[in-house]
Amino acid sequence: MLGIFLILEIAARLTLEIRERRLTQMRGGVFALLRLIPLVNDIVPLPEHRKAPAESEFQKKHEEGHAELRHGILRNLAKIALLLLAVWLFAFLLASREMSLVEAVLWLHLAAIPFRTVFHLYCWHQEYEADHYAFEKLGKKVAKAAMRDLATSEIPYTKLFAAIYREHPTVAIRSQKILNKEIKA
Ligand SMILES: [Zn+2]
Repeated sequence: MLGIFLILEIAARLTLEIRERRLTQMRGGVFALLRLIPLVNDIVPLPEHRKAPAESEFQKKHEEGHAELRHGILRNLAKIALLLLAVWLFAFLLASREMSLVEAVLWLHLAAIPFRTVFHLYCWHQEYEADHYAFEKLGKKVAKAAMRDLATSEIPYTKLFAAIYREHPTVAIRSQKILNKEIKA
């Protein structure tokens, strides 16, 4: 059973990776290969930028929005809740189901996949709120210019790929949310 799920995971990630390469016409590099391997893909970093984005007034207000809305604390609380859930599941698998350590770790890895995606979407929601805050303070023109600039510095992952791997929404999604218009590089 565990084996079947792991093979399904690899197949699903491979499909996602091929779809991404097709749609973005960009190479994945060695990280793309590492992302296919269960457990390894839990720690492979995902580069988000081609170059460091320029500091902007919009970004400052965006960060102010995060602070104002207590996003950091909420995000950490969500992390703690998920961690407790993971500890509980791990203990359950080891004690009640009498699994080996390796099996329990692999099941935990699989169970974490949907939770991680939900957590990403929660983080995205916070980003939209911070963007909205900055938009209200600075107006459309500034927001648009900031999004354009961000678009040139980020790696434009697709929405589906970003939902699986990124804690930050892409500029295309953020601009769609605040400007009703998708801005791409
Ligand atoms: Zn943010």
